[in-house]
Amino acid sequence: MANMSLKKVEINTRDPEERNKDFKEVVLGYTEEQAMEEAERCLQCKHKPCVKGCPVHVKIPEFIKLVAEGDFEGAYQKIKETNSLPAVCGRVCPQETQCEELCVRGIKGEPVAIGRLERFVADWHMKNIEDKKLNIKSNNKKVAIIGSGPAGLSCAGDLAKLGYKVTIFEAFHVAGGVLMYGIPEFRLPKAIVQKEIDSLKEMGVEIDTNMVIGRVFSINELKDKGYEAVFIGTGAGLPSFMGIPGENYNGVYTANEFLTRINLMKAYKFPESDTPVYVGKKVAVFGGGNVAMDAARSAKRLGAEDVYIVYRRSEEEMPARVEEVHHAKEEGIIFKLLSNPTRILGTEDGWVRAIECIDMELGEPDASGRRRPIPIEGSEKEIEVETVVIAIGQSPNPLIKATTEGLETHSWGGIIVDEATGATSIPGVYAGGDAVTGAATVILAMGAGKTAANAIDEYLTK
Ligand code: FAD
Ligand code: SF4
Ligand code: SF4
Repeated sequence: MANMSLKKVEINTRDPEERNKDFKEVVLGYTEEQAMEEAERCLQCKHKPCVKGCPVHVKIPEFIKLVAEGDFEGAYQKIKETNSLPAVCGRVCPQETQCEELCVRGIKGEPVAIGRLERFVADWHMKNIEDKKLNIKSNNKKVAIIGSGPAGLSCAGDLAKLGYKVTIFEAFHVAGGVLMYGIPEFRLPKAIVQKEIDSLKEMGVEIDTNMVIGRVFSINELKDKGYEAVFIGTGAGLPSFMGIPGENYNGVYTANEFLTRINLMKAYKFPESDTPVYVGKKVAVFGGGNVAMDAARSAKRLGAEDVYIVYRRSEEEMPARVEEVHHAKEEGIIFKLLSNPTRILGTEDGWVRAIECIDMELGEPDASGRRRPIPIEGSEKEIEVETVVIAIGQSPNPLIKATTEGLETHSWGGIIVDEATGATSIPGVYAGGDAVTGAATVILAMGAGKTAANAIDEYLTK
């Protein structure tokens, strides 16, 4: 008999006043009993609408049935058939606009907590099961992957399973892309990402860090070194600026720099780590996406008393995950909505002292489908702050394009590919993830890595 409760089984989460002072994980996850109770809410729909909402088509009803029966390892293996990073996706996928959006239980009440169940299953496996070493026969064909984010990792994993000799070239000294340097520890513990990377290494994938492709070697030089195919998964790491006066004052960061200092260089452990990060008592973060929420919540944890999210539309249009906005509010982040920064004001010696913002109202929908924000003349006001973090978007870094003859890109920098295969304009060179789509999601990047792995296999075996 299905559990007909209209609400998801609550997930255990740390107290907001305690958690907003450290970087330990906020959400603690389901117990076995809670997971089985939630799994009973799934109606095992024959037409599986939820699966259509998942970019990698996780076999959702099948894995949830196994959870309900207490076969957690069986459920894990079922998810792994199509998703190589379930512990990551269960934590960071925007489920409310993907699998859970289409769940029939969401018509009257809350959808089945697919993401929480996926996370539970992946964590259970990590705690209880030792992965067997796969016995893979090498086909001696070399493939180069540029970038070790979710797109590169999933492409590498699928190719390694097929016997390819895969080398990932990563610009940073640590592999994992945004999973390591962008998304903070309190949302995605780095030990989980590291475990996924270690399992790729066990399959024989080599990871060459501190290798900026386009500087150390070009893509053509990789081909000369015997790599028969190349996958570009270089992400969208080039931050956008507002273009307003005052962006060069001391105390203004891009979210990219701010979060990289904190997550990758462990600035929150300074002086134990050797990278500091300056955070004043009052901080303004510009933007309304996940990156803005992560920056604001990190600033709070680093001791800021008042942290403002300044966003020019209303909460309804905010691109951040609902859970992130909810957690940010619980932790005391102050939302200044329908407000747009017009300039940053500084002290005589060049430090930020305030921001000026103008009130906005919403007009007709624009090209993005969201209602266009219109400034209300004469409504400018100042807010005193000492630190500003700009989190209004990122685009692909132009280095690969600039150093690869014949690689076609859009005017905004995204690499042009054949959607069905990830093939670029250069034979044998494939691309996927944020480098192609612009800033998007982990699961879309993983899906693109998988698609390209299949296409590379076909290309090298035809
Ligand atoms: P990336 O993860 O960006 O990885 C690209 C890698 O390529 C990087 O390691 C980079 O160093 C490397 N690289 C770049 N250029 C070169 C070069 N020339 N040579 C060698 N290596 C190179 N998505 C969600 O689904 N849910 C979330 O909650 C979420 N939160 C986010 C929070 C933040 C702060 C950020 C920044 C993003 C967030 N995203 C989230 C988006 C998601 O992380 C990205 O869409 C995803 O990581 C893209 O994967 P990717 O593999 O294409 O690129
Ligand atoms: Fe949902 Fe993401 Fe899991 Fe797919 S991978 S089922 S979208 S949580
Ligand atoms: Fe279960 Fe919801 Fe999917 Fe139906 S739509 S199978 S209830 S998860």
